[in-house]
Amino acid sequence: MPIKEQPKSPRFRIIANILLAVSGLFLLLNLFLPGLFASGPTGVPYSLFIHQVQEGEVSRVSVGQNQIIYQLKTENAEPPQVFATTPIFDLELPKLLEQKGVEFAATPPPKNTWFTTLLSWVIPPLIFIGIWQFFLARGAGGGPQGALSIGKSKAKVYVEGESAKITFADVAGVEEAKTELVEIVDFLKTPARFTQIGARIPKGVLLVGPPGTGKTLLAKAVAGEAGVPFFSISGSEFVELFVGVGSSRVRDLFEQAKKQAPCIVFIDELDAIGKSRSSNGFYGGNDEREQTLNQLLTEMDGFAAGDATVIVLAATNRPESLDSALLRPGRFDRQVLVDRPDLSGREAILKIHAQKVKLGDDVDLRAIATRTPGFAGADLANLVNEAALLAARNMRERVAQEDFAEAIERVVAGLEKKSRVMNETEKKIVAYHEVGHAMVGALTTGNGRVEKISIIPRGMAALGYTLQLPTEDRFLMNEEELRGQIATLLGGRSAEEVVFNSITTGASNDLQRATDLAERMVTAYGMSKVLGPLAYQQGQQSMFLGNGGGNPRRAVSEDTSKAIDNEVKEIVETAHEQALEILRQNRDLLEAIATQLLETEVIEGEKLHSLLGQIKPLAKTTADSVAS
Ligand code: ADP
Ligand code: MG
Ligand code: ZN
Repeated sequence: MPIKEQPKSPRFRIIANILLAVSGLFLLLNLFLPGLFASGPTGVPYSLFIHQVQEGEVSRVSVGQNQIIYQLKTENAEPPQVFATTPIFDLELPKLLEQKGVEFAATPPPKNTWFTTLLSWVIPPLIFIGIWQFFLARGAGGGPQGALSIGKSKAKVYVEGESAKITFADVAGVEEAKTELVEIVDFLKTPARFTQIGARIPKGVLLVGPPGTGKTLLAKAVAGEAGVPFFSISGSEFVELFVGVGSSRVRDLFEQAKKQAPCIVFIDELDAIGKSRSSNGFYGGNDEREQTLNQLLTEMDGFAAGDATVIVLAATNRPESLDSALLRPGRFDRQVLVDRPDLSGREAILKIHAQKVKLGDDVDLRAIATRTPGFAGADLANLVNEAALLAARNMRERVAQEDFAEAIERVVAGLEKKSRVMNETEKKIVAYHEVGHAMVGALTTGNGRVEKISIIPRGMAALGYTLQLPTEDRFLMNEEELRGQIATLLGGRSAEEVVFNSITTGASNDLQRATDLAERMVTAYGMSKVLGPLAYQQGQQSMFLGNGGGNPRRAVSEDTSKAIDNEVKEIVETAHEQALEILRQNRDLLEAIATQLLETEVIEGEKLHSLLGQIKPLAKTTADSVAS
């Protein structure tokens, strides 16, 4: 397959193009040569030629494939006149010539010298090579692949030195991800530094995040920064019509990659092949996908440390659906979150894309960023383009702020169908809700440290989120910690109650989780004094019952069932009271943090810790009621 002979440097491509040009020129010359040589004799119609033969005026004829050249009889010693005509397929001609006693021969045309013969042998291969190189060069630039690659890996190769080299400077708003990937660049640039002290270079890095947040862009930037070839293929391209094509494509892809190492293999939409094998349920597996996945696992295990440095980057927006075998050490053991950008991130992304258009003086990118919460990088790129189109339609020379305003409306209208974009009131409710989680979480045990609060919509389910990182690995939890977790889950709804004195639908997932947890405390962990240390829950969930309806209980009497319900309710109610109490006693802080959050959309790290550190612990009485 030609891609492995892919020239590394653009110099080769220039030579290829010169070859193409030269062979084209020869081809043209070759076409016109006969014309050039034929300009000697005077052209006459065939009918005239036949007439002259019949009249006996012709002395000699040379019959060629495309041309008949003949001389007329000359009475005096003048130089003979030469004429040419285009022959018609005429079997009678030799007979006629013989009759008239004309001297004739089927000579090859005089232009056919050794030189032209040579050319006709040399030019076609040259042209072929030229075209081949041309398509390769286009393929390398990300253009359509030639038909030469059927059945082989369809990976597009971006080679170092491409004119449009992407670097980290082209990506904004995803600082954490960038920091992580800088390390990958180091691995690729100086692998020796790591292998020398025996460190294993990571093989696989999984970029996780919603669509349009710049995962593909980041992968290209890694290749651009490291100056290595970049093989890009989409997971869905592996899984095609024919069984076995997928796995052979994987094999081929890695074969090529190893030859070009160090390099990056980028697999977009990894979930298309990497879906959990167990999730196929009763319907049997998708054999083709499974084979492809297995081949991928084999290949990733295949190249050992010290081998060629091939780093596999992959992107997905559904990490939870991936087969766990893919996430094991030695495969995609690193996961990098590429989340939707916050306010300042959006401003930075707008700045990058605004460079490509002419901006008016009144354009305020910060203001635009403020109005576009929930926009991913691709949406912002689209926004800038949309604004430029509007400006052009309005016959403006430069993009004005009002173009952006109109463009936002258009893009939002489009996005509202796909995902959610919150209005101001919703944003406010979500802010208080999330701060509620964070504050209760900070004051109760059993939760990890609250690391981040965000009101940037994320994924399909949540409008905002509060990120808690466990301080240590926990395998055992005591009752107080579980109660703390339940209170934290109810913190969001409680904040809505405290501040707005009303409840929205936003907390339903929280309530579900809190109730499940409370139920497990009672039915599985034996934490209820009333019911005692009995397991009321059936050991294994049956595969046939599905998992929609909570935990199946063992057969219990009606009284017990009632008692379980009461206990669960009691636990949740107590936690709810606790959460409400915490928030009421820290009402001012709740306001302060929520206001701050509405402004910046994300609060994290030190800033968050110092804010949450100001929470006043609960008065004695409530703490007692919790412990009981
Ligand atoms: P993903 O692969 O995550 O779905 P892409 O990387 O394909 O998203 O992003 C599509 C386009 O959106 C990019 O080519 C770029 O123009 C723009 N874009 C997305 N994220 C960013 C970002 N963080 N910074 C700058 N531009 C971005
Ligand atoms: Mg992508
Ligand atoms: Zn919540």
